[in-house]
Amino acid sequence: MDHFTYIKGQLHAEDVPVSAIADAVGTPFYVYSTATLTRHFKLFDEALSWGPHLVCFAMKSNSNQAILKLLADLGAGMDVVSGGEYARARAAGVPGDRIVFSGVGKTADEMRMALTGGIRQFNVESEPEMQRLSAVAQGLGMQAPITIRVNPDVDAKTHEKIATGKSENKFGIPISRAREVYAQAARLPGIKVIGIDVHIGSQLTELEPFELAYAKVAELTRHLRADGHEITRLDLGGGLGIPYARTNEAPPLPTDYGALIQRTVGDLGCEIEIEPGRLISGNAGLLVSEVIYVKQGEDRQFLILDAAMNDLIRPSMYGAYHDIVPVREAAPGTPTTPYDIVGPVCESGDTFAKSREMVPLTEGDLVAFRSAGAYGAVMASEYNTRPLIPEVLVHGDQFAVIRQRPSFDEIINRDTIPAWLVDTPVPAEQE
Ligand SMILES: *Cc1c(COP(=O)(O)O)cnc(C)c1O
Repeated sequence: MDHFTYIKGQLHAEDVPVSAIADAVGTPFYVYSTATLTRHFKLFDEALSWGPHLVCFAMKSNSNQAILKLLADLGAGMDVVSGGEYARARAAGVPGDRIVFSGVGKTADEMRMALTGGIRQFNVESEPEMQRLSAVAQGLGMQAPITIRVNPDVDAKTHEKIATGKSENKFGIPISRAREVYAQAARLPGIKVIGIDVHIGSQLTELEPFELAYAKVAELTRHLRADGHEITRLDLGGGLGIPYARTNEAPPLPTDYGALIQRTVGDLGCEIEIEPGRLISGNAGLLVSEVIYVKQGEDRQFLILDAAMNDLIRPSMYGAYHDIVPVREAAPGTPTTPYDIVGPVCESGDTFAKSREMVPLTEGDLVAFRSAGAYGAVMASEYNTRPLIPEVLVHGDQFAVIRQRPSFDEIINRDTIPAWLVDTPVPAEQE
């Protein structure tokens, strides 16, 4: 469920007409709904209310300061995967003891930053990482609290680029070697083992892979306890999928996911952490764009938008489907026509959809991509020197720009010309 609906034939974000935001900030832009973000966070929080838990928002899905502040105020923790994300979380006011640090390539600088700034735990993904973390912590006279991310060798049945729980993926240590690696961790002076971490992939549309993975985690917990380790915390990762097309079957609900967690690991007396990203932010955002031209090709019509692959890369990167809807609702029964929907970037990969049936659209019309709140703005680039587009947050009948569109000068002034080039004159135009 989201809060983007037609009211009197006009698409609204909560109580604000999307066209009013377009008038105020220009297109393209992202717009997010406070009510949807809040609702999704609370669904997870309530689904785990049977025991001690922390819902850590995977902020790689959407890391705008305003979104982080909104979720942190609701009690969310954060799952960060870089020093930059750690800094963003702290800048948004998230206390260190609500931040977990994931990722396969944490550097010593990132470790030091989190240890000195405050951290709930590191989710360690390899033995060399564990050794480096121990050394860094020891150098600071500290012990780093860790879980070890185990790779349960479970097929998440999702897109290959976002599956992470098979043995061929780079993530975690093989669960078959876990006892050996935990024994090694117990001998490291700068390490304090507190639990187990698992994350098997993203955009999972079935519960079964979670069930298989969590059953393995439960079994491992018992083995590790028998080996003398204190396992008090289980981080079960993120990955619950969302419906990208309204015609699709609905993916599992957080409530059922929470019940599954209780069923598989609930009797172990551990504090539970989860790291949802997409399910919190995905359906809470739209990308709004204007039709620049309708171009007649030889055998097809192109809808050329002012948004492009640099603004929303999911269709070209993962072949992802997004519902694209007109901001002004068409009269019921209006016949549809197929369009190839593309952006202005000089790449054929800059295609959002092929032969998409849409009501007829014309220059100046606005369209909205649904489910664009996760892995949208955060994956954007300035390819073709197209400025990063604004982000807007709606709350009831209010809206605010939460990230400005940079000017061309701001973009250009990030580059610098080296001293040896400064004084060479650019030759005048040749005759
Ligand atoms: C990406 C990621 C998540 C979030 O995945 P979603 O599909 O957005 O829920 C959580 N934990 C880790 C370690 C991740 O890499």
